[in-house]
Amino acid sequence: MDHHLSPELEELRRTVEEFAHEVVAPKIGDFYERHEFPYEIVREMGRMGLFGLPFPEEYGGMGGDYLALGIALEELARVDSSVAITLEAGVSLGAMPIHLFGTPAQKEEWLPRLCSGEILGAFGLTEPDGGSDAGATRTTARLDEDTNEWVINGSKCFITNSGTDITGLVTVTAVTGRTPEGKPLISSIIVPSGTPGFTVAAPYSKVGWNASDTRELSFSDVRVPAENLLGELGRGYAQFLRILDEGRIAISALATGLAQGCVDESVKYAKERHAFGRPIGSNQAIQFKIADMEMKAHTARLAWRDAASRLVAGEPFKKEAALAKLYSSTVAVDNARDATQIHGGYGFMNEYPVARMWRDSKILEIGEGTSEVQRMLIARELGLVG
Ligand SMILES: Cc1cc2nc3c(=O)[nH]c(=O)nc-3n(C[C@H](O)[C@H](O)[C@H](O)COP(=O)(O)OP(=O)(O)OC[C@H]3O[C@@H](n4cnc5c(N)ncnc54)[C@H](O)[C@@H]3O)c2cc1C
Repeated sequence: MDHHLSPELEELRRTVEEFAHEVVAPKIGDFYERHEFPYEIVREMGRMGLFGLPFPEEYGGMGGDYLALGIALEELARVDSSVAITLEAGVSLGAMPIHLFGTPAQKEEWLPRLCSGEILGAFGLTEPDGGSDAGATRTTARLDEDTNEWVINGSKCFITNSGTDITGLVTVTAVTGRTPEGKPLISSIIVPSGTPGFTVAAPYSKVGWNASDTRELSFSDVRVPAENLLGELGRGYAQFLRILDEGRIAISALATGLAQGCVDESVKYAKERHAFGRPIGSNQAIQFKIADMEMKAHTARLAWRDAASRLVAGEPFKKEAALAKLYSSTVAVDNARDATQIHGGYGFMNEYPVARMWRDSKILEIGEGTSEVQRMLIARELGLVG
């Protein structure tokens, strides 16, 4: 892996860094406090082309790849994770399934608006009774042969970007049949927002990611045309596992950004804050803490970029994506805890970015596969089964 960014990627990094500091940083605290989705910031991200980063230009994308997406996510999350997860979920979970598994007609219909950020897509896998065990899907879809429509019933929980004013669709997994042995056959189906019988609950009250949209969804005899099937019948579970493998790299980049943001804020504060007549940063205890935080952020960056480089090169990347996600989310939590400690009482005040980072870090060990699930994947890749 080449550790240096190409001139194009370095320019992207600088552009997003500037945007994060000049546009996101001054405004996001208020949105976060009000638990409000930051439409104006998301609109601007759309205008910059961020939602189209890894998609082909023919659909309005930027023609980039997962490395480009990771660079943008890392820079956004250095400042704020709610906007970063809105981008991550919009791209990796909302649009990517359509790009990877959609028919030409589905791509034509959805990708240009997803790439421009005019609409957001969501990914509905998790159910009230099954997150890690995603194969335990209970939502069903039956093909009504008279009308040639899927009839969907069930519910999903914790779905990001699913209830904003600009949400255009949610792709859901549903049981569409059984194998001769009785195992469920799971398929993915596109459900446009506003389809009768598709209800989106009020936003959850969350510990963190408070300017991001997360909702519970319910489906009661929801009818969509048969051609809304995404990919092959009965392959929905396998497709979603592929999406999650890639998504882990994106979450890892986001976690790295948060870990680095904690370093940025701590260095600044350690120089400004005085105790016992000198800056707190002149104490070796504080210096060592920050040095360790920098070490962790740096190593996390190497891990996600390695996984992304393998994905972009068409090489196997499952284990490296799980390693990167496990490591970066662990150190994001570590760094957030240490940064808060360095800020003392101010670190517990919401007006300080580290307080937001502390609240936003925990979910990184849970979403898109918990740390236990990452360990299961790594062990399996090492040949350990059972
Ligand atoms: C803010 C937020 C946004 C989210 N966005 C989305 C989204 O857009 N789309 C979507 O589909 N989902 C989304 N999720 C769901 C998320 O992916 C799940 O919460 C996560 O996968 C864990 O599933 P669970 O909550 O059902 O926990 P469970 O699967 O019930 O796990 C509970 C605990 O048991 C552990 N555990 C489970 N099985 C084992 C095992 N075999 N061995 C050891 N430990 C085990 C888990 O690691 C965890 O610690 C989101 C969640 C949150 C909180």
